[in-house]
Amino acid sequence: MNEVEEVKARLDIVDVISQYVTLQKAGRSFKAPCPFHNERTPSFIVTPERQSWHCFGACGTGGDVITFVMKKEAIEFSEALKMLAERVGVKLQGRREFSQEQRRRERLLAANEAAGDWFGELLVNDKAGAQAREYLERRQIDSAAAKDFGLGYSPAAWDGLRNHLRGIGFEDEELLRVGLLLQGDSGLHDRFRGRLMFPIRDERGRTAGFGARSLENRDASGAKYINTAQSPVFDKSGLLYALHRAVGGIRREGRAVIVEGYMDVIAAHQHGFDNVVASMGTALTERQVRLLRRTTNQIVLALDADAAGRDAAIRGHEVVRGALSDSRSTMPLVTWRGLAGYQQTIDVELKVAILPDGRDPDDVIRASPKEWRTLVDGAVPVLDFRLDALAGSHDLSTPAGRSRLAHEFLPILSVVTDPVVRAQYLQRLGRLTATGERELSAMLVSATARPGASKRAAATKEAVSGRGDNREEFLLALLLRYPALREDALGVREELLWNSENRALLAAWKGTAEAIEGTSHIEGVKNAVPVELWPHLERLTLRKMPEFDAKQAREAFADCVQRLVRRGLEAEKQATGAVFAEREAEVGASVLAEAASGEKMESDKQLLEVLRLQAQDMRTGLKLHGREEYDGSESVQTGNHG
Ligand SMILES: [Zn+2]
Repeated sequence: MNEVEEVKARLDIVDVISQYVTLQKAGRSFKAPCPFHNERTPSFIVTPERQSWHCFGACGTGGDVITFVMKKEAIEFSEALKMLAERVGVKLQGRREFSQEQRRRERLLAANEAAGDWFGELLVNDKAGAQAREYLERRQIDSAAAKDFGLGYSPAAWDGLRNHLRGIGFEDEELLRVGLLLQGDSGLHDRFRGRLMFPIRDERGRTAGFGARSLENRDASGAKYINTAQSPVFDKSGLLYALHRAVGGIRREGRAVIVEGYMDVIAAHQHGFDNVVASMGTALTERQVRLLRRTTNQIVLALDADAAGRDAAIRGHEVVRGALSDSRSTMPLVTWRGLAGYQQTIDVELKVAILPDGRDPDDVIRASPKEWRTLVDGAVPVLDFRLDALAGSHDLSTPAGRSRLAHEFLPILSVVTDPVVRAQYLQRLGRLTATGERELSAMLVSATARPGASKRAAATKEAVSGRGDNREEFLLALLLRYPALREDALGVREELLWNSENRALLAAWKGTAEAIEGTSHIEGVKNAVPVELWPHLERLTLRKMPEFDAKQAREAFADCVQRLVRRGLEAEKQATGAVFAEREAEVGASVLAEAASGEKMESDKQLLEVLRLQAQDMRTGLKLHGREEYDGSESVQTGNHG
């Protein structure tokens, strides 16, 4: 339970609201004239079971105890939370704990920054850096490019960096944590020694870690390239080398190019191809593709000539070049099917550019920038590339060869759900295999019906069919995961959500600019909400979600909104129903009383009121009924209680 939940758990909404409004018991609920608008007939209902309140009159809104206090006192979320927390004696720690953790992270980033400066200084001025300077010269990296990319040199001594950073106030514990030091048999020592250093920056340009190339043939660890180990500020699967420098170029060119190595990126940028980034010897991860997707949906993979013959589309250059023999078996790979899957789930267009045999992008660009441009311009869609490669590897003059082609390509195509795209490739495959599209279609269906698919469908159903707050949270998790839903979601009223945390997050999400340069929209939301909501935001961000493509995400979103609208209508019906039943009982009694006293006028008024409520109930019923026949496409605009 986080702090907000704890505060709410210790409060009774009836107690709190009773301070402001005189509540009358009405069945399992309480009612009162609405404190937010002028009325004589109570349409303000408090439901202790759900710890919620609603005004079914002019306000047409409701919420939990925090939203009530916010509205009544006209204060912000965190102020209301503070007020209520004091009332029940909950100490709000989140802000302090967070800022401590934040400070620790800042320290680690600062240590990296200082290390980078020191390495850079040694590269330029130190005698020992001569070897690195010669290497750069040989690779045609001039001092301007070296400076732009913050290249550096780590001396071969065991404690040079450690002494320097301790001298300017960093602790061993911090340096160990950020991966600049290693714990060896004889104590702590520098991790990077005698190497050319490549600072690896995050998308905001902060030094998250380092890549390092050996300047000897091999050092003790036997690796040509090593990099910072996973740390609180370094996660290779969520970083792309030079992304912060490439964002402008990617936007201008309308596409990003992914290469494998640091040297390839530097060569590209030196020659004006500043839309090039590197995956740094990892498989291309979904997170990396999503990072690029913020700026472009056109991604070109520059792959080596062997790629065509491999089942795995991409693997780290460390594996390709055999430098890290021990990681060969553990290096994650991206299969062609995986790439096709990215296209689908992240809504990007992936193309493949194949490098001439045995040459790196570095070689190609330096030999002929024009050739590089031609290569990238000529990149082919990943599905075409794979189909061509498979077709080329089988003897299509034999039935067996044609069958193999179909059986190898269909599983890749099965990831694609767009019927137009599917049809196009089925046609091509049909021509290549001399098989009817109908037969191939049938094969495709059986290739699609794999265990994972039904599991995902079940997960979707489970996630969507959740009740109450779970549904609200699903909606928010969707929006956080799929920023492309923005247009659909801007029309959703915050009042559709009853939980104050969720409502505050939705408001912040709607108010956050689509993509602030260099930051994720989640960070934008984070900056826009009180720190007390950060644990909640984090939980929603990490929530396990089915993988949706763009269309599925929109459908799930529309469905979820529709269910929330219906929930509101049902609650309204329930509440008015309860009030109506009570009225009827009152009227019954008053008719008797009237017979005794002859006060006819008053009872007429009451009968009129009963009729009004009856009519309202009927309208609600009609609305509910009508909604059930809705196809959901318009439900976004009807995000209110009627
Ligand atoms: Zn009201």
